[in-house]
Amino acid sequence: MTSFAFSPSPIIALPIADSKKMFPVRRVYCIGRNYAAHAIEMGHNPDKEPPFFFQKNSNNLDPSGEFIYPTESNEVHFEAEMAVCLKAGGTNIPENDALNTVFGYAVSLDMTRRDLQAAQKNLGRPWEIGKAFERSAPIGKIYTTKQVGHPNSGAIVLKLNGQIKQSGDLTQMIWKTPEIISYLSKYFMLAAGDVILTGTPAGVGEVQKNDILEVSVQGLETITVNVL
Ligand code: MN
Repeated sequence: MTSFAFSPSPIIALPIADSKKMFPVRRVYCIGRNYAAHAIEMGHNPDKEPPFFFQKNSNNLDPSGEFIYPTESNEVHFEAEMAVCLKAGGTNIPENDALNTVFGYAVSLDMTRRDLQAAQKNLGRPWEIGKAFERSAPIGKIYTTKQVGHPNSGAIVLKLNGQIKQSGDLTQMIWKTPEIISYLSKYFMLAAGDVILTGTPAGVGEVQKNDILEVSVQGLETITVNVL
């Protein structure tokens, strides 16, 4: 039996709707600028610059319903996203086989230290300090494909203190779920437990302490996240 020099970190596990079992997380991938209107609001031309990938850490996922305003930033943004959770993986997965790797879907947030991200962008540096910080990915329960099928249309909405700030539709995703999985699998070996955040519609904006975020994806649920 393997003997460790110190106790290993716990396995990150997410709740599954109507199940006592938990979803053990392996990796977290995110797609950037996957909704044209959001790419434009961030100053980019979606016709010239296709979406792209970055990563967060598995333990950035947080189902607690609380978001702790992070250190070292004065401009933290919400980004409402649908998460795709995998039960299988591989490399070079064809698009027409990609949905067979999906376990389920969840409502999530890609919280972003926008000021730090912008500074890193300007310097041509990686984005980790803007994206992959503690508790930066609030997430709801995972709904299995048996429960919800494969959501590919329907509203994705974020309310800030009761006011609608983001109102998009899954049909606006530039790369659809099968394309995202297929593209990613060319560059990484995907596996069961991987979670992919599929991008955010237009309307991203700042949060402050004591704000309340409500995020919904049609066919899934509404999650509430308190900013502390
Ligand atoms: Mn995002």
